[in-house]
Amino acid sequence: MLGACTSQAAITFNFNYTDTAGTGWYDTTYGQTRRDALTYAANQLGQYFNATATIGYTVSSVTNPDADTLASASSNAYGPLVPGFEPTIVQYKIQSGYSGSVSYTDGSIDWNFGKSWSYSYTPSDVSAGENDFVSTAMHELLHSFGFISTIESNGTGALGKPIGDPDLWYTFDRYLTTSSGSSMIDPITYAFDPAQLGTLTGGVGAMRFNGTYATPTFTDGVPIYTPTTWSEGSSGSHTDDLTFNGSAYPELMMNAASGTGPGVRSLSSYEQGILKDIGYNLVPEPGSAMLCLAGSFAICFSRRHRRGNA
Ligand SMILES: [Zn+2]
Repeated sequence: MLGACTSQAAITFNFNYTDTAGTGWYDTTYGQTRRDALTYAANQLGQYFNATATIGYTVSSVTNPDADTLASASSNAYGPLVPGFEPTIVQYKIQSGYSGSVSYTDGSIDWNFGKSWSYSYTPSDVSAGENDFVSTAMHELLHSFGFISTIESNGTGALGKPIGDPDLWYTFDRYLTTSSGSSMIDPITYAFDPAQLGTLTGGVGAMRFNGTYATPTFTDGVPIYTPTTWSEGSSGSHTDDLTFNGSAYPELMMNAASGTGPGVRSLSSYEQGILKDIGYNLVPEPGSAMLCLAGSFAICFSRRHRRGNA
């Protein structure tokens, strides 16, 4: 059935798998299925973007049934290590239309195959006890696309400068504000506002993504995940699970956590607004992907990203 959903992604994804023969991504039984599913997920995500670019990832895996982490992905900041706002390398390459030789250091992905995974391209085939590989891969890849904050719990950025000093941040951080619209980071000085330290653990709706495209989708800006206890790798870099909880608002692909069973495989208007604000040109009607994936709904398992090491 999904065969009708021909991927026309203009972003070319290249993956360099570092696992040894017979393990992980090269598992004797599941290796090909896993690699195919990652390519499928990447192309599903790629359909949203009106861009032509070549990007590459180094892809590894672990097998750890006891770890919290299901998967992680990262892409370092592009450009000089000086105060300011920088895109991730992946973000820069997509937005600039990079078409040169493949660099597998644009981004990285690490997968935990110690968990239960469904590799199905059909959401309804993901059973209640399985994690949705495709949904998770789209989520992780989107972090590498720049859907990620580099604000640490103590208000420092990628350069680790003292709070209140100019620092280096991802493009995403430029648009983070309080619910009343005060910037977390001064757009002129690139300094985190020390008065907003509490906002980072301010609970439901404390921090918002405010931008030209995102703000009209949600009053006072799109709520960003700021649980009252800082969650390393999750706080600040996701849509707010407690707002987008499947009740008043739908669960979103970019929520911090999700459960087993069929996952979210389409981007909401909120997430699309955020992506436009951080510089992406999206396909006006990415309906082909979503029509074919009708019926997907949300989940709840723990998923973490790893921060970019700028
Ligand atoms: Zn995440």
